[in-house]
Amino acid sequence: LVISVLFLVISISVIISISYVQMNKEQTLSPGLKYGIVLDAGSSRTTVYVYQWPAEKENNTGVVSQTYKCNVNGQGISSYTNDPAKVALNIDGCMKKVREIIPANQQNSTPAYLGATAGMRLLRLKNESAAEEILTSIQNYFQTQPFDFRGAQIITGQDEGVYGWITVNYLMGNFLEKNIWRAWVRPHGAETTGALDLGGASTQISFIPEMIDQNPNSTVQVILYGYQYNIYTHSFQCYGRDESEKRLLASLAQNSIGKRDVENPCYPQNYMTNFTSSHVFGSLCSAPFRPANYNPDKVINFKGTGNPTKCLEKVASLFNITSCNGEQDCSFDGIYQPKVKGQFSAFSGFYYTASSLNLTGNFPLNEFNSSMWNFCNQEWSKLPQILSRFEEKYARSYCFSANFIYYLLVYGYKFDAESWPQINFQKEVGNSSIAWSLGYMLNLTNMIPTERPLIILPMSS
Ligand code: AMP
Repeated sequence: LVISVLFLVISISVIISISYVQMNKEQTLSPGLKYGIVLDAGSSRTTVYVYQWPAEKENNTGVVSQTYKCNVNGQGISSYTNDPAKVALNIDGCMKKVREIIPANQQNSTPAYLGATAGMRLLRLKNESAAEEILTSIQNYFQTQPFDFRGAQIITGQDEGVYGWITVNYLMGNFLEKNIWRAWVRPHGAETTGALDLGGASTQISFIPEMIDQNPNSTVQVILYGYQYNIYTHSFQCYGRDESEKRLLASLAQNSIGKRDVENPCYPQNYMTNFTSSHVFGSLCSAPFRPANYNPDKVINFKGTGNPTKCLEKVASLFNITSCNGEQDCSFDGIYQPKVKGQFSAFSGFYYTASSLNLTGNFPLNEFNSSMWNFCNQEWSKLPQILSRFEEKYARSYCFSANFIYYLLVYGYKFDAESWPQINFQKEVGNSSIAWSLGYMLNLTNMIPTERPLIILPMSS
């Protein structure tokens, strides 16, 4: 008996030590973290994002997070028409940091993408070869980089809308959750969050409508983790924050020919500035306002009058609401839109604008209204005390931006006092920014499988 017990004890300890050695071997062989890089080449600037995730969980939901974000110095890539070779110089400032963050032995297996949005879509319409040269210059730059560069693309407005929607819902954990038996299931209620994105040159709305939509131009079907989503999405070119303000300035200047100063009711009282005619009228979006005797070098003076009523009137004139002929399922410019439904996340320019009024998260429509009114009545010299971060190029435009998002959301998309509080003005979830870039990478790296993962995980994982 003693010999048998001794034999059993020895056998058990041999088994334990073998599995211990194996476990250790697995741990040292564990591939650890993986990385991905996306450059969001927006109209006003380029942002570099680095994402990371545990390699062995790559197809699980919610495991990808943002580990680094860098705002590239200078303007958006579409402004480099005269010197496309220079476009990479500023990008390299951020890429230097990226090379420090991603371990050297993983750099050549790290995918990197550049996606350009409405600024480049507009440039391609105006001057296709200039747009091509800029993209080629970026492509050449990435040949000198250690990363697995998978191309510089101009993405469509529809893609921008859908990837923004995927990002929001991925970060909020709306696609899948683990049930008590540790299997992946669709969360209870299976509600998704709509996405409202305000960029510099275009704005996007994406959500799942009440009824399955029959309109093929505005509905995108995506299959994520085994479930099909029919997403309504639309991108409005020239309705980004910067291009909309340019259209406002152009329409004011067009109506003030011959006057010394052009009065702008959306600029604060006592604010003065000037722009060249080419800045105001040079864009495709503001070109329809160009006067017959257009001289691109002429300087135009603008003078703020800080008048919220007149500002909203001028903002309204930027939208073509009548083209909807009073139809229910129509936003503006004759564009089909089903009734808004459920929770929404409003990020990028929506977030910056609301937070300039000290409003973030969810809040009532009348609170936005009164804050906007108060802000627009402040004269220019008061703004440094009111704003937590004062930068002239943003501060002078917050009254315009507030009126613009108010008009867009209420008269355009038809949010009302009841549905407005469902909008969450936010810029990130956890520490990850809400932007189309994460959804873009998840899709291009096949990290959201179409098949539903049915595995029941062992208790230790
Ligand atoms: P982006 O998210 O970089 O495409 O910017 C969207 C819009 O927000 C553009 O009109 C920018 O000019 C504006 N914007 C970007 N950063 C800020 C900021 N810190 N404060 C106010 N507006 C901003």
